Amino acid sequence: MTAAASARQILTRLHEVMASRLHAQGKLDQVVEIIGECLSSEVCSIYLLREGMLELYATRGLNKTAVHVTRMAIGEGLTGTIADNVETLNLAEAKAHPDFSYRPETGEDKFHSFAGVPIVYRERAVGVLCVQHVDPRRYEEVEIEALQTTAMVLSELITNAELVDEEEALSLSPQQSGTQTLSGLTLVRGLGAGVAAYHQPRVQITQVMADDIEAERQRVYRAFDKMREQIDGLTNQADFGVGGEHEEVLETYKMFAYDEGWSRRINEAIDSGLTAEAAIERVQQHTRMRMREIDDPLLADRMHDLEDLANRLLRIVSGQIGTAAQQGLRNDTILIARNLGPAELLEYDRRRLKGVILEEGSLTAHVVIVARAMGVPVLGRASRARSTIREGDEILLDATAATATVRPSGQMADAFAQRFAKSKERQAAYAELRDVEPFTRCGTRVTVMMNAGLRDDMSALAMTGADGVGLFRTEFQFLVSATLPQRERQLKLYRDVLDAAGDKPVIFRTVDIGGDKSVPYLASDIADNDENPAMGWRALRLALTREGLMKAQARALLEAAAGRSLYVMFPMVSEVWEFDAAKKVFDEQLEFLRSKKKMVPEQIHFGAMLEVPALAEMLDLLVPRLSFLSIGTNDLTQFLFAADRGNPALAERYDWLSPPIFRFLRRVVQGTVGSNIDLGVCGEMGGRRLEALALLGIGVRRLSITPAAVGPIKELVRKVDLAEITDAMNQWLSEPGVNLREALAHWAAEREIETE
Ligand code: PEP
Ligand code: MG
Repeated sequence: MTAAASARQILTRLHEVMASRLHAQGKLDQVVEIIGECLSSEVCSIYLLREGMLELYATRGLNKTAVHVTRMAIGEGLTGTIADNVETLNLAEAKAHPDFSYRPETGEDKFHSFAGVPIVYRERAVGVLCVQHVDPRRYEEVEIEALQTTAMVLSELITNAELVDEEEALSLSPQQSGTQTLSGLTLVRGLGAGVAAYHQPRVQITQVMADDIEAERQRVYRAFDKMREQIDGLTNQADFGVGGEHEEVLETYKMFAYDEGWSRRINEAIDSGLTAEAAIERVQQHTRMRMREIDDPLLADRMHDLEDLANRLLRIVSGQIGTAAQQGLRNDTILIARNLGPAELLEYDRRRLKGVILEEGSLTAHVVIVARAMGVPVLGRASRARSTIREGDEILLDATAATATVRPSGQMADAFAQRFAKSKERQAAYAELRDVEPFTRCGTRVTVMMNAGLRDDMSALAMTGADGVGLFRTEFQFLVSATLPQRERQLKLYRDVLDAAGDKPVIFRTVDIGGDKSVPYLASDIADNDENPAMGWRALRLALTREGLMKAQARALLEAAAGRSLYVMFPMVSEVWEFDAAKKVFDEQLEFLRSKKKMVPEQIHFGAMLEVPALAEMLDLLVPRLSFLSIGTNDLTQFLFAADRGNPALAERYDWLSPPIFRFLRRVVQGTVGSNIDLGVCGEMGGRRLEALALLGIGVRRLSITPAAVGPIKELVRKVDLAEITDAMNQWLSEPGVNLREALAHWAAEREIETE
């Protein structure tokens, strides 16, 4: 008989038992008999979780008097170890295992071999199914698979019959629900507490046994087709990121997605009588077990990829394909994902989203910029997140300290709440600076503006007292939209933003799409095959060729600012003619509006972003054309160091606060001296205190930063003497081998200037 046929025989018999009118205990008693017989095992036992202990519920072969008497703690003995680790054990000689614990009342001393599998509910073990045999032999793979299948059926039975308390199952014993600390990399500082939700929720399997095997086969067949299609089209998806490490992952995805062995094993599991969902999960359990036996970190990574893919397949087959955002957040939530795109993050309800934990992620990736703008703390590079955190776990996220506490104790939660209150107090202190102008100690007024991208962001202008919006990322409207926003929609947004800003200036940056900000409806335009999208067909390059796009935006901006001042900034200007060409589009639209006797802006100020290093060599020609110039350090630094801003592996490799970057920036500042141009920095760098200090020290007098940083940076500005920091920076930048970060921190500490 084939493995599938023997498993099917077991399942058919289990099916009869499950469908019978027996009460739950009666069914368990039958199950141990069937399994014992089919696997020729003298002993078969079922332990279920009750009041935090594993209690012997049914047995064939052990003393019946031990039923409901023998109880093991999670982690105690072989049974407890299986539950604790949620993993299978298969031993020829049970007594040789270090965790073996002998229970005399069971009469198990004569049995040598032992195999046990966890009964899993929502990723937690709620019981253990085990078999024992007199002969010292390891069980065959097909036998272990039969046990695992039975355990799935039992999981359905015991939860339906409420044999284990669901609440208890989810909170479990100290070992399974014990506190764990994850560490990673601070991407957006801040504290947040909530329950864990996976961006792509795990699928709950509700039916294990198939009613129609052929139908299940067809379902899985179609799901494979769809998954392969998705994987093939994944290269350009924002959630997957681009370049470097991602390509390797994609290759692995492809390898697994087309792996005949994998689909064959799933089909065999279906042949044994399982539904498509149960079959996928069964095969996955089995693979997990095999992988655990091989202690190799590279394989562990691949296992992650396979888990992703199995989850994807399960989601397709079950139709449970929504993200947590689409299902709606019900509680204060900490979102868990491998990586996210900016548009995906924007789908979440800001009031409930209290933090994000990413297994990947890097400091200047757009998703992080969006999170910062939303005021959501983000911990990145938390590589163990998915193996540690389960859906619904309580989490205290301290992104500032780059840690997350999973399943905290009451005491920890209290201490966290106190810190939370303190940090709120600090924020309140910054709020008091709202109406205080940021003059330096020596009396120079520094302009502190904020970055924004959505209508909602504008409320931060009044809250922070920022001097205006130094960078309005107009592409955010494109990112959150399912279709290309038409001119009318753009016009409405820009008008609302200007209304909200009142007298304060708003610098609108024309669309910067491409790179890690891809929009599906423009995908065919944004060269699908760009190998280096950040250096590819994006921003102004794209806008200048999609003339309609640029014209529509120009018209929308000109009309929105009718009768007021309009500030327009072009992204990724690499050569002077690009600025001229972009301005020409605006000039033509202005002419058109005038010819139609429409009201136009009172003044229009054109500016450029300096984020492509080549432009720095052309300042003498560029500057006379501009009324302002903003240095985009997010892109500039990635190009200067040739280090992709979205690549997690490079996230910690180079420090922005380094002599080459600051020497370069100083040269740009000096290149504008003597002109009337308004020079500023609008990259994330300006929102960090040490970096801001260094920027002041090389002559930058206008910063545009994330709203949350406005208070802290104003406070910093008020403590600085510009002549002093300028001297210090000149000194450090002229010495070889200076650690700029340390030097600045020391300098600030001497003057009691806070830098955290
Ligand atoms: C920058 O590159 O520094 C910048 C501000 O633009 P973005 O982050 O949107 O690319
Ligand atoms: Mg940029």
